[in-house]
Amino acid sequence: MTMSSHPVALVTGAASGIGQALAVAYAQQGIRVAGGYFPGDPHDHEVTLRLVEEAGGECLMQPLDVTESASVDALAETAMGRFGRLDYAIANAGLLRASPLLEMTDERWDEMLNVDLTGVMRTFRAAACHMGEGGAMVAISSIAGGVYGWQNHAHYASAKAGVPGLCRSLAVELAPRGIRCNAVIPGLIETPQSLDAKNSLGPEGLAKAASAIPLGRVGRADEVARLVRFLTSTEASYITGQSIIVDGGLTVRWPE
Ligand code: NAD
Repeated sequence: MTMSSHPVALVTGAASGIGQALAVAYAQQGIRVAGGYFPGDPHDHEVTLRLVEEAGGECLMQPLDVTESASVDALAETAMGRFGRLDYAIANAGLLRASPLLEMTDERWDEMLNVDLTGVMRTFRAAACHMGEGGAMVAISSIAGGVYGWQNHAHYASAKAGVPGLCRSLAVELAPRGIRCNAVIPGLIETPQSLDAKNSLGPEGLAKAASAIPLGRVGRADEVARLVRFLTSTEASYITGQSIIVDGGLTVRWPE
């Protein structure tokens, strides 16, 4: 296989957590990555570049705001300019904020939906412009909204509940082009997002939650990344429109 025949994946939110782990997982299989990082967050995108290089892969990182169509389109265009092809699109970027209903302003609601749901559409639309016949898309939903309700997070859960519906629809719409589209529903995964004690569980909440998870621990970012990588691979050639949970058994546990 020459380098130019290696697939190319667009990954949003690639400077941290699941997105960074995915860039590395792709690099391990020679899949080239066009990653987006959000300049408004403190994550160091150079770390992703270094980890990909250490894994023997190729990656570019570009500033990205998934609330801006032009920014998302620009990342897809840069991927085409640098690598000459685009095979996979991973809508991973996400925002999490806590807000009880009575404190839910229209602005908070709109911001959340804009990043966590409309941002997925923008990512897939930008990629679909450049993808040829064949390829795959994956969006990251959540057990919050994808399975459970979550108090004080109605906006996040609503956006994440919308993601599987978006993926199912695009699975049907893009099937004639041979493009598959699936959602991944992570449970509790240790990343900067879940370690944020103000808006999520924080370190203590995660440690406590581990005892309710049948596998006895929270998940690692690479355990989600490998599912995403599988779903974009030809190993998953007949899987489309599905929502697949990766949660250590949390959602199938009998309540005690
Ligand atoms: P994370 O905070 O490390 O990653 C989210 C990334 O999205 C960050 O790099 C952030 O900078 C980026 N981002 C935020 N706003 C953006 C914007 N407007 N434009 C572009 N990028 C933006 O946390 P993570 O856990 O790796 O999150 C990855 C995805 O997984 C998210 O969609 C999240 O909601 C989802 N998820 C996480 C968990 C978990 O337990 N960690 C569970 C379920 C779902």
